[in-house]
Amino acid sequence: MPRNHPHADEDCIFCKMVAGGIPCARIYEDKDILAFLDINPIAKGHTLVVPKDHFPTMLEFDPALGVPLFKALKRVAEAVRAEVKAGGFNVIQNNFTCAGQMVFHTHWHIIPRFENDGLPDWPGGRYADSSEMQQLAAGIAARI
Ligand code: 5GP
Ligand code: ZN
Repeated sequence: MPRNHPHADEDCIFCKMVAGGIPCARIYEDKDILAFLDINPIAKGHTLVVPKDHFPTMLEFDPALGVPLFKALKRVAEAVRAEVKAGGFNVIQNNFTCAGQMVFHTHWHIIPRFENDGLPDWPGGRYADSSEMQQLAAGIAARI
């Protein structure tokens, strides 16, 4: 029987899927992780891999779950790629609204990719010079 997972958020749609209260096209499940098809796929086979516990963004995600998460990501991505005969796939993970996050239960997208599939490339920007780059790296490093 589905059960409420510890640390569930009663208003969260992915927590409801974990608990079995909302149906989803389930692909994989273990005690920590659930994977299911995205309802609005960028490409057919677009899959979401989510921890069963509720963490709003990746910053709250428990790194102790990193191993089960990565095991599931690899297994599911390989199966998706084979089933839809994709040449490759992107793994994308959005954090906060300005990065496109709509569901605040952290999740990893597996997006099948095909030659000339028309999906946009990320733009490649530039730094003014190497000192701007070095200073930025040092500023970030100082916060760790
Ligand atoms: P985000 O933009 O937060 O990274 O991604 C949220 C994803 O969840 C979107 O791609 C959206 O299509 C998917 N999604 C939202 N509601 C549902 C739902 O009820 N069922 C399924 N299967 N996917 C959903
Ligand atoms: Zn949740």
